[in-house]
Amino acid sequence: MVFDYSALPREFKRHYLPQDIDFEWGDLNRVFEELNGRSLGSERALEKWLLDEAELDAYLYEQRAIRYFNSTRQTDNPEYARAYEEYTEFLEPRIKLAGFKLLKRYVSSPFRGQLSERVYALEDRRRQTAASIFREQNVDLEKEDSALSQQYYRMTGGMTVSFRGQEMTLQQMSKFYEVPDRAVREEAWRLASQRALADREALDSIYSKMVALRDKAARSAGFDNYRDYIFVKKERFDYTPDDCVEFHKAVEEAIVPLRRGIDRTRAERMGVDVLRPWDMEVDPAGREPLRPFDRVPDLVSGAAKVMTKVDAELSSYFERMVELQLLDLDSRRGKAPGGYQEELAEVRLPLIFMNAVGKDDDVRTLLHECGHSFHTFLMRKAMLPFFNSGANMPNEFSEVASMSMEVITGEHYEGVFYDRESARRSNWKEAVDNVKLFTWVATIDAFQHWVYTHPLHTKEERTNAWEATFNRFCGLESYEGLEASRAYRWQRQLHLFEVPFYYIEYGIALTGALGVWSRYRQDPKDAIEAYKSALSLGCARPLPELFEAAGVEWGFGPAALRRVAGELREAVKEYGQ
Ligand SMILES: [Zn+2]
Repeated sequence: MVFDYSALPREFKRHYLPQDIDFEWGDLNRVFEELNGRSLGSERALEKWLLDEAELDAYLYEQRAIRYFNSTRQTDNPEYARAYEEYTEFLEPRIKLAGFKLLKRYVSSPFRGQLSERVYALEDRRRQTAASIFREQNVDLEKEDSALSQQYYRMTGGMTVSFRGQEMTLQQMSKFYEVPDRAVREEAWRLASQRALADREALDSIYSKMVALRDKAARSAGFDNYRDYIFVKKERFDYTPDDCVEFHKAVEEAIVPLRRGIDRTRAERMGVDVLRPWDMEVDPAGREPLRPFDRVPDLVSGAAKVMTKVDAELSSYFERMVELQLLDLDSRRGKAPGGYQEELAEVRLPLIFMNAVGKDDDVRTLLHECGHSFHTFLMRKAMLPFFNSGANMPNEFSEVASMSMEVITGEHYEGVFYDRESARRSNWKEAVDNVKLFTWVATIDAFQHWVYTHPLHTKEERTNAWEATFNRFCGLESYEGLEASRAYRWQRQLHLFEVPFYYIEYGIALTGALGVWSRYRQDPKDAIEAYKSALSLGCARPLPELFEAAGVEWGFGPAALRRVAGELREAVKEYGQ
C-alpha cells in the first residue's frame, strides 16, 4: 500500500522556502544558513524571520510525519524503516543543532520584547524555555533513544500468535476477550499474554537503556532527575509534579471505589466468585460482543452519518478526509499497534492510522482520531503559524479535542451502528472504560514518577514498584497464577517507551472532555460552538484559557475528580447494563 502525498492539494502557498527543496541535508542546511546569517535589525525583520522559520518548521514536521506514517503502516518494509531511520539518525540531530542556533539568535535579539505582548508572549516563553535547557551533547542521547524506540516498535509490531489455525496480531486477539464463552476468552488471553512475555527480557533491557539515557540527558541540562527536566521540556507551564501526585490521590479516592463497585456488579451478573483478567471486556449479561460493522468501508460510512448529526462543518471535514484518502484503518500484519492522528503541517491536513477489527472500540477510536483531525482543520484559522502547528499543541488540550468527540458521538450511534439496546451497551461501556482510563492514567503516570526519580533502580525494584502502583489503582480481577503477566503488563504500554511522561495528559483532557459532553447533553449547539472556537485558537493561549474557551473548567484535582466521578456514576446507572 503506497500513499501518494504529492497528490494532496496545496492550499497554503510557500512564501519563503524554495519550491523544489529536497528533504536532504544539503538543501536544508542552505535554508538554515540563510536564516542564521540574515540581519535582524528591526522588529519587522525579526517578525518576518519568525514567519519564514515557521514555514521551514512546517515543512520539516510534515516530512517527518510522512516517514513516520509509512514506517508504522508497514513495519516490515525495509525501505520505509530505512527512510525513517535515516531521518532519526542523520537528519534529526543536524536539524536540532541548526534549530538551536536559530533559537539562540532569537533569544539574543533586542527586538524580541517589542513584538506584540498579546500575540507573541506565549511563543516567546516557549522559545526562552527551550533555549535554556538545550544541550548539544543531548542530541546524540536523543538519537540513541529514538533508535531504541524503533526497536520496541519492530519487536511489538511483529508479535503474532497462531489461534484456531490463523496467525493473528495481539491486537487482533483482543476481540476474543469479548466472546461469551469463558474458555475461549481464557485460551486467547493466555496465548497473547505468553507471546508478550516471551520478549520480556529484551523489552526490559530496552527500557533500562532508555531510562539511563534520559536520566543522563536531564542531568546534563542541570536537573536532578528526568521528571523535573521533562516537565520543563514539555512546557508544562500550568501544573507541577505535585499536582500530578495530587491527581493520583484524587483518582484513588474518587474513582477507584467506583471502578471496584462496577467490578462487583460485573461478578454478580456473571455469576462468578472471582473475576479473572479475561472476564473484564465481555458483556456481563452474556450477550454476544457488539459488532458495529463488518468491513472498514461500513465503519467509514457510519462515522460519516454520525458526524452529520453532530455538526455540518465538522462533518464536512470528515468527508474531505475520506475523499483525499487520509485514513488507514484496517489491521494488517506488520502494521504497528495502536492508533494516532498525524498532521501534515504544510498542507495542513490530517492522517489517521488505526487497527480496526470490527469492535465497538474501533468506532470510538476512529471518532477520537477524528477529533484530532478537526483540530488540524480548525487550527487553519489560528492567526500565526506557530499557533496552528500540532508540534506546539499541548496534548492536555489536543486530547480534549479528541476525547470530546469520542464521548459526544455516542449520543448518535442508535440507528447507525446499533439498535437501541446495543447503543446503550456501547455508551455504558464507554463510561466504564473512562472510569478505567482514569485509573490507568494514574497507574502509568505514578509509575513513571517512580522510575525517573529512582534512576539507579534494579529491574527487580522496578517490578516491585510497578506491582505496588498497579495494585493501588486496579480493579477486582485476580491474577493468581498469572503473576508474570501482571508484573510485565507495563511493557505493553507503548508510551512508556516511545513518549515518556506522555500520559497524564489523557487524565487532564478527560476531565475537560467529560465537561464538554455534559454541556453537550444540555445544549448541543452551544457546546459544539464553544468546542470549535476553542480548537480554532490552536495553541495561541495557555491551557486554562483554552479550557475556558471550550466552556469547561481547568483543573484535575480532587474537586474536578469528584465532579467527573459523579457524572460517570450517573452514566453507568443511566445506561445500566
Ligand atoms: Zn488522542
